[in-house]
Amino acid sequence: MPALRYLGIPQDLAREIRATMRSPQYGHPAHREPARGYGPCRVCLKTFAIGVEDRILVTFQPFTDPGSLPAPGPIFIHAEPCERYDAPEFPPDFRALPLVLEGYRKGGRLLAQERPVDAPLELAVRRLFHERGADYVHIRNGEAGCFMARVEPAAGQ
Ligand SMILES: [Zn+2]
Repeated sequence: MPALRYLGIPQDLAREIRATMRSPQYGHPAHREPARGYGPCRVCLKTFAIGVEDRILVTFQPFTDPGSLPAPGPIFIHAEPCERYDAPEFPPDFRALPLVLEGYRKGGRLLAQERPVDAPLELAVRRLFHERGADYVHIRNGEAGCFMARVEPAAGQ
């Protein structure tokens, strides 16, 4: 089966948020505070150490393909620089979180939305690509609804 890439938000976007304390996409002010919840950080895809690490709250729009309807929403990132998650494995810290998977076609057309319950998470993601024909998948928080990460086929597949 072709490899997938699980991705945090782009590193240059994160750098700009930390440097300007504004949303690069919207100009809205960002807000820094000690982490009061698990997050996770949308760059490294790790949960926050509550009360220990600082996080930045910022408005983010996860759709990048032409024709898609923007869906801005709040996200958190680590206030201090961290490494962007870019790996073929499901982000380990997501396993304990409530998740919703959404499969999209180019142009932002939603094909399927599911809460993986019993199935292994990797399998549920793969099904969206191989059975539903998704071009990319968004992982969202199953309680708050916020965007958490993007999954796409690895280049060259
Ligand atoms: Zn981080």
